[in-house]
Parts: sequence; structure tokens; C-alpha cells
Amino acid sequence: MQQRQVAIQIQALSMCFGQGDDQVKALDSVSLDIQDNEFFTLLGPSGCGKTTLLRLIAGFEQPTSGHLSLFGKRLEGSMPFERPINTVFQSYALFPHLTVAKNIAFGLEMQKKPASEIDRIVEEMLVLVKLKGMGNRKPNQLSGGQQQRVALARALANHPKVLLLDESLSALDLKLRKEMQVELKRLQRETGITFIFVTHDQEEALTMSDRIAVLSGGVVQQIGTPSEIYDAPVNRFVADFIGETNFLNAVVVADGLDLGNGLGTLAFNTSGLTMGKPVTLAIRPERLCFDESGLPGVIDNVVYMGTDTVYHVTLPGQPMMQVRLQNDYGANAAYPVGTNVRVGILTESIRVLED
Ligand code: ATP
Repeated sequence: MQQRQVAIQIQALSMCFGQGDDQVKALDSVSLDIQDNEFFTLLGPSGCGKTTLLRLIAGFEQPTSGHLSLFGKRLEGSMPFERPINTVFQSYALFPHLTVAKNIAFGLEMQKKPASEIDRIVEEMLVLVKLKGMGNRKPNQLSGGQQQRVALARALANHPKVLLLDESLSALDLKLRKEMQVELKRLQRETGITFIFVTHDQEEALTMSDRIAVLSGGVVQQIGTPSEIYDAPVNRFVADFIGETNFLNAVVVADGLDLGNGLGTLAFNTSGLTMGKPVTLAIRPERLCFDESGLPGVIDNVVYMGTDTVYHVTLPGQPMMQVRLQNDYGANAAYPVGTNVRVGILTESIRVLED
């Protein structure tokens, strides 16, 4: 397979705001490569530095230290408008007094493209974002989702090399947001433009991205495909932030992971782990089952969720566990509160976290 080009290279990028005691390190030596034609997501909780990183890529801010390159060319010193990079803001930032067509044409007119070419591109963009025939409307005559599409069309019209999307879907209601997630993915595929998408919504990141960088406290915690991030989180922060995770306390022993409190030892290949070291086991609730040879516990709570039921199970001396089982058609929670159960854990579903 042909090696993809690196679209954006970020090398040891740091960004500090303020001075002295008031100084905030929004980004702390961030390094990552974003491939051409990739749907790349920056994911993390509020304040982790996502927007700052996006603003540095766009050129709205200059980094305290480190480097940024676009297709091998350093971006230092270039103004935002000189970069073939466009941004879609959460607020859409449409011009209220201009029609949809004029909004889409705005950047092209600034570039002084011929009118016939502008008309052609605007029509093309209206089709692309499924707003054909709505070119003469004003933004206030459109729904939130349609306004979002105009903002996307405007940002795509001059075919940037990279499109930055800052929490672009968070103003939409859940149903529309799901629809736009599919739309964004389609637009990225059809245009072949590199998308860098910022969100704090882990589900959104998992469903849309080719790869995700998880950020916390201005530091990249993990970079990987959605399944790498979900199935093989590298630390407790990532395991906790992405999806639901059970954390069990254990100690590494020769033949496995000792859970203490009379629970015994889970058979596990401990090569590479430090003997006698306390570790945390991260296990997804849907990877657990009730099994006669499992660990003894009591059901504390039952949460019916339509397709699944989540059982909260207490094991001696361990944090409460969640076991998520699929419901059969028409079945309600099969195990009531207070039932003694045994929780089966498959070796391959255990992630051992040493931090
Ligand atoms: P959110 O999801 O809430 O938008 P974020 O992950 O995008 O958060 P940033 O907006 O990048 O986070 O902020 C990272 C840190 O930098 C925060 O602690 C923030 O308060 C700080 N910060 C951002 N911009 C400035 C600024 N102009 N002056 C001072 N501090 C700032």
C-alpha cells in the first residue's frame, strides 16, 4: 500500500498563556503527525488544550516553542489567511445579511475568482452539502443543521488542504448531531481533505475518526485508531475517559493477577510485568459475563437500557463493577437486586495498567 503523506506535523509544540504565578501551560510538548486525507480527532475534557492546538494550526496564535509543518513546509511566520487551512467554528459564524450562496462565495470573492467560476463552485458546494435550491435564503431562514451545512460549504469552497472543526456539532440536538456525524464523514471521504475535528465527546470521536489523539492537561495521552484507544487504553485516564471501564486492584504474582480478599488469582501471562507490584486492571463492562467459575459477588443495582442491562456488582474488597449484558427480545432484567452471582472475566479482556 502506498505510504500516505503527512499533512500536518506537530513537533514538541508548547503554548503558555500569562506570566509568573498566573502562567497556564495549555500545551506541553505535543508531538504528532496527521496524515493526508485523514479524519483526525483531538479528544479530551474541557481545558485540555484542544482549541489551543487548533488555533495554533490555523495560525491565530503563535506557539511558545516547537514547530508546525504543512506537507513538509514550516508554518512559522505565515498568517492565517496565507495557510491553505480553513476553520468551521461552533457558532458557524455565518454572515446574517448575506444569502447562503453569498456566504459560500465569500472566500472565493476575496480571492477574486471569476464570477462564472464562483457560481459553478457555489452550485457544486450546495449539492455537496445537500442544500441545492436554498442558495437565495438568508441564514435565519435555515435550521441549525442547515446553517451548519452552509458553514461547511463555505469552508470547503476554496478546497483547503486541511479543515479544522472546533466542537462543530455541539450546538445541534442529539438526533441532528448523529446525522451530521455521518455527513461530516461523507464530506471528508468525498473531498479527500484532511479533517481535524475537536470534541470532548468520546462517542463522537469513536464513531467518526480514522485516528484519535486523547489529550489531558496539555499532554497527549494516546494516539491511535478508535479500536486501539477503546480496546487498549495505555493508562487510567484514557480507560476512564473513553467509555465505561471497571477498575480492579490486583498484585502481580507468578501465575497471574492476585485480587486478594479471598477472590484468588486470575490466570494471566505476567511476563513483562513486575512481580509483587500493585496494578490496576481495566475491564470493559460488556466484556464480562455471569459464569459459574467466575468471581463471587452480589448485584447491587440493575439498570435497564433497552438493548442491554447493566448490573452493578459488589465483589469483596474491590470497587463496584459493572457487567453489561445484552437483552433478549422482550426480556427484562433477568437477575434482580440481591442475587448472588459469579462474574466471569476472560483473560483477553483484561488491560493491566501499571501507572
Ligand atoms: P474546551 O473544551 O472547554 O474549549 P479546550 O480543551 O479546548 O477546552 P483550551 O481552550 O485549549 O482547552 O484551553 C487550555 C487551557 O489554556 C485552559 O486552562 C485555558 O483556561 C487556557 N487558555 C486558553 N486560552 C487562553 C488565553 N487566551 N489566555 C489565558 N489562558 C488561556
